[in-house]
Amino acid sequence: MANFYIDKSDITENRATITGEEAVHISRVLRMKKGDNVTLCDGEGTFYEATLSEFSEKSVAAEITSSRRAETEPEVKLTIFQGVPKNPKLETIVQKLTEIGAVKIVPVDTKRAVAKLDKSAKVERLRKIAREAAKQSKRGIVPEVADSMSFKKAVEMASESDLSIIAYEEEVETSLKMALSGKTPKTVSVMIGPEGGFEKAEIEKALDKDAKIISLGKRILRTETASITALSLIMLKAETI
Ligand code: SAM
Repeated sequence: MANFYIDKSDITENRATITGEEAVHISRVLRMKKGDNVTLCDGEGTFYEATLSEFSEKSVAAEITSSRRAETEPEVKLTIFQGVPKNPKLETIVQKLTEIGAVKIVPVDTKRAVAKLDKSAKVERLRKIAREAAKQSKRGIVPEVADSMSFKKAVEMASESDLSIIAYEEEVETSLKMALSGKTPKTVSVMIGPEGGFEKAEIEKALDKDAKIISLGKRILRTETASITALSLIMLKAETI
């Protein structure tokens, strides 16, 4: 059954009003009709089964018949603090981390980040990619793509998680596996450097805020590979039954 994202504010009692691109997709692309069944998602963890009931110029109405919590959302709340890489790597990172299960993606202006995420249009495009990836992977929520922030602010924010991790390619003692030994925490933050990596001073700053420095193995991974690898390994640990 087709799956469409709506805002929770578009639901009153048992009636959902589908607007924008989703309404166009239903009426003009899929040419769906009154009586057809759809699955709606409010992007906040709830799916609704509904039946299309009314078509107008700019919207489609649907009568909700049942609702359920999204079973696709991971228990662990994963936030990635990503040193801003050269585009379009960040688009790949947002798309893949959405599929893997991240709840928040924060671009970080680290010392060696050569790219700047200054244009809000770029951030809006990343948010659109997150929405599309969430829909494709049947997520119950759309991960938040934050505005870029300083490394200092990122480290402070990361320290609020139950576990804050910074991936450092020069780390030789602690592996991600060791950092994850024992029960998986409820919230985990992961910091990944840009193409040029982290400065030593940034690693020190992260240490001061109780971040765990970890290695992702003996090979140097591209920044986009490191993000996807780190989150996949954490998700594997968290969701292994
Ligand atoms: N300084 C690296 C070099 O010598 O080429 C470049 C940094 S790497 C391309 C980008 C980021 O991925 C790093 O800052 C780190 O966060 C992560 N990373 C890559 N390989 C890693 C590894 N083996 N262990 C831990 N982190 C790694």
